[in-house]
Amino acid sequence: MSIMVPSTTPALITPGRQALDSALHQLGQAAEQLGLDDGLRTMLATPRRSLTVSVPVRREDGRLDVVQGFRVQHNVSRGPAKGGLRFHPGTDIHEVTALAMWMTWKCALVGIPYGGAKGGVAVDPSGLTTRELERLTRRYVNEILPLIGPEKDIPAPDVGTDEQTMAWIMDTYSVSAGYSVPGVVTGKPATLGGSLGRSGATSRGVQIAALAALGRSPEGVTVAVQGFGKVGGPAAQYLSDAGCKVVAVSDATGAVHASGGLDIARLREWAAETGGVRGFRHGDALAQEDLFELDVDVLVPAALEGAITAVNAPRIRARLIVEGANGPTTPEADEILAANGTTVVPDILANAGGVIVSYLEWVQNMQAYPWSSGEIELKLRDLMLGAFSEVKSVAAERGLTLRQAAHVIGVGRVAEAHQMRGLYP
Ligand code: GLU
Repeated sequence: MSIMVPSTTPALITPGRQALDSALHQLGQAAEQLGLDDGLRTMLATPRRSLTVSVPVRREDGRLDVVQGFRVQHNVSRGPAKGGLRFHPGTDIHEVTALAMWMTWKCALVGIPYGGAKGGVAVDPSGLTTRELERLTRRYVNEILPLIGPEKDIPAPDVGTDEQTMAWIMDTYSVSAGYSVPGVVTGKPATLGGSLGRSGATSRGVQIAALAALGRSPEGVTVAVQGFGKVGGPAAQYLSDAGCKVVAVSDATGAVHASGGLDIARLREWAAETGGVRGFRHGDALAQEDLFELDVDVLVPAALEGAITAVNAPRIRARLIVEGANGPTTPEADEILAANGTTVVPDILANAGGVIVSYLEWVQNMQAYPWSSGEIELKLRDLMLGAFSEVKSVAAERGLTLRQAAHVIGVGRVAEAHQMRGLYP
């Protein structure tokens, strides 16, 4: 971690800037389809609120580090802002803005009454002790305190954050309020009002979307999963439980391959013990990049943005891509995949299971009445499949890809809400 020096020089083209360019490109296409006027386009292209904070962190050795943090509320026309909090060294204001924008369309697409937000801290959490992480989280929350609240903006886990992070956020906010406010975050531990089924919800949604897109028995369908963290790990497990053959998995440490199918439960144990998939004995080592080129039926990118680009897209052999990550495919790659006849179930649909169960958690918190796991599973499935069939029919009606159709629906709903409310003053 280094001391942050405020910069006055123009930003370089960071991966975050590329993610924002992708998001703006997708918005532009949807706006064109919907015939939105320039004013409304600009409104939807810019976040309503965007906060950058400096977060001082006392290290165990007494040093003081200062890291940058962000919270962006892209849109609040349909309800409170909603979106995760990311701890990653590469995060910047552009990435957080792109991710917030995708949250807006995602919530609108699956019909939950939220706007979109995202938070980020430019830090590598693996380089911090638990106590440093706790201090960092609490101080970041303190800096963004005026923005968040159960009726205003509700954070949740994302890359590099988890249930423990959410517990610290809930506590910091509650101490400041003077009473317990479970609805200020979702993805909390069950003992603090977290919902049953939330931790595996994004992955469960990926499984539901993948099986719906396959439209045939999953028995023997081959799958490769890029990313074996909170989303990719359980997604591989659920797909394998459904009868698919997960033949390859990669993460930051390496990649493994077994043409007969990997034992995912065993691989998850190995990764938990050793910190990654590398060295797993019941499979062959593979170069991470080669995972994209495998002759599989389904490819699940479940890591970060920009994984599928114009460089590797032409070599992808999977006929179906189901996006567990946010923004894994660049617009150039999208064009190549569409021309090759590859179906892409887009992020804002495929990974919406997380925010759907976040919403269910928030509803349970607001009414102080927890539900059974069966009820949550049913509602998740209903919302996922409802959105899936809407996206499919809009794609067929308008001759669009699933991503374009999903954006037409999401952007259209936000534009409609904005127009109905009118502009103040
Ligand atoms: N971080 C997740 C996402 O990108 C979940 C957000 C939430 O539950 O609010 O969809």
